Amino acid sequence: MPRTLIAGNWKMNGLRADLSTLKEVAAALPPDQDNPEVLLCVPATLIASAADAAAGSPLRVGGQACHAKEKGAHTGDLSAAMLKDAGASHVIVGHSERRADHGETSAFVAEQAAAAIKAGLTPIICVGETLAEREQGQVSDVISRQIAESVPAEAQPGSFVVAYEPVWAIGTGRVAGPEQIAEAHGLIRKLLTDRFGAAASEVRILYGGSMNPANASEILQVENVNGGLIGGASLKAADFLSIYTAASAR
Ligand code: PEP
Repeated sequence: MPRTLIAGNWKMNGLRADLSTLKEVAAALPPDQDNPEVLLCVPATLIASAADAAAGSPLRVGGQACHAKEKGAHTGDLSAAMLKDAGASHVIVGHSERRADHGETSAFVAEQAAAAIKAGLTPIICVGETLAEREQGQVSDVISRQIAESVPAEAQPGSFVVAYEPVWAIGTGRVAGPEQIAEAHGLIRKLLTDRFGAAASEVRILYGGSMNPANASEILQVENVNGGLIGGASLKAADFLSIYTAASAR
């Protein structure tokens, strides 16, 4: 079984003063802990100071998006190498909020993921259906297309993470049920196995969507769930640590 990953996504939340939350998480992790791996994806403005604050602890720091190009005339964008240089180890790509707010297509997500791998970052590639797509019975088609188009040719098992995030469960307090999660994660594992063979078992598949201290334990026990991508509940150290504790007890 691959190493569990508990990843927080602060989204557009966090000023320098909020690094106290990150420091609290870093200080609470046992220094010699190697499972689960713990990551906080903070706003880009905080990556360097977050990496400094987490130094010496097992807590890793990540970004939330990157540009596909290495450098150039892309005002306001950040390259994967810049995130890495600032101290990031991972970057989220293809989050549904970026797909919706910035029109990011799966082809662009694949380019971002390839750029991240090239820069030495681990991309967390997000996929997931909208409520309308679920209601129209399109879950399998949507996930299959997103995986085929968003995981780049450069990816190897171990070089990337997938997050299954049903859009209707993100920030809504509505959580996918264990059967829905098992079905989606099973499909993703099959799609990865079709592409990578047995080595696909190394790819971590995270669940994301209103995960919190009350539901984490049940979700993390579902087959093919190798961790979580946590938005709202990663903003409070106690909640995030409680999810970490649930993951440690698996
Ligand atoms: C997310 O932002 O990826 C997410 C899953 O958010 P939340 O946990 O708040 O639903």
